[in-house]
Amino acid sequence: MLPFARVSIIGLGLIGSSIARAVRAHMPTVRLIGHDADPQVRATAERLQLCDDLADTAAAAVTDADLVILCVPVGAVGAVAREIADELAAEVVVTDVGSSKAGVAQALREALPGRAIVPAHPVAGTENSGPEAGFATLFHGRWCILTPVEESTGATERVQIFWERLGAQVETMTPEHHDLVLAVTSHLPHLIAYTIVGTASDLEEVTRSEVIKYSAGGFRDFTRIAASDPTMWRDVFLANKDAVLEMLQRFSEDLTALQRAIRWGDGDALHDLFTRTRTIRRSIVEQGQDDPAPDFGRRHD
Ligand code: NAP
Repeated sequence: MLPFARVSIIGLGLIGSSIARAVRAHMPTVRLIGHDADPQVRATAERLQLCDDLADTAAAAVTDADLVILCVPVGAVGAVAREIADELAAEVVVTDVGSSKAGVAQALREALPGRAIVPAHPVAGTENSGPEAGFATLFHGRWCILTPVEESTGATERVQIFWERLGAQVETMTPEHHDLVLAVTSHLPHLIAYTIVGTASDLEEVTRSEVIKYSAGGFRDFTRIAASDPTMWRDVFLANKDAVLEMLQRFSEDLTALQRAIRWGDGDALHDLFTRTRTIRRSIVEQGQDDPAPDFGRRHD
């Protein structure tokens, strides 16, 4: 039994187009209607046949949907929700895929009072954006976190089934807890990667060509994350300000402790920390959240 029959996707970038492809692959009878604010993205979506129908406005895309998924940057969620508010069918369920949740949940509640709202975050992605970057297996084996608001009790199970059909594993938590967890597992690592890559590109004593030439020493692994979409990440840091600042404070304190250990030649402290961190990497691989092949599976031939 399908959880939804007519799905509308607003925003056809990496995540929106991956959902469209995954719906086609796993629930081929679902009718898909898409919209993106960018006419070029709509043209690409048409060429790739991502949806059964493409609408010129968000409002026109949702009129007969029983599930609406907002796949736009988190800073745009409120505006899109207001745009579609008067066109939604009575029994529709509205969800999103934003990387931060408390602000998004509040924006959706304010724009769509009394509606079934189930904010969601598929913890899956790549550093690429746009409709051509998407692929149907993006969510396979990844987690999708639901942060339902009060009114959405009945709808939560259907959204859960929807994500499970796309290959994801589903967990439910409050938006505030989501934002704290993701601040440390995703937002802080992005901030650190943006900083390191920015610092390296500003150095005067080491040339930019040397930074690139010798990047296999570790730097290049940060550049993958630091290549992520600027609009998306600007919005995430502005939306999840409190949790990010809290984690940044903790990180700065730990960095200072490490600085002290290096200054005072405390090799044991360094060794203890590096042993603990290695265990974390092993647990991630054991739980199927990354490739066990060394060097992220890169070819060495
Ligand atoms: P993306 O590839 O840049 O796609 C976003 C699309 O939404 C773009 O085509 C953009 O058009 C369009 N858009 C922006 N504002 C709009 C509006 N008001 N109405 C209609 N369309 C609009 O970004 P993405 O990576 O798919 O990210 C989308 C959402 O998924 C974000 O909330 C992000 O936090 C979340 N997310 C991302 C990842 C990831 O790894 N990338 C993972 C999980 C969740 P323009 O070309 O005009 O900007």
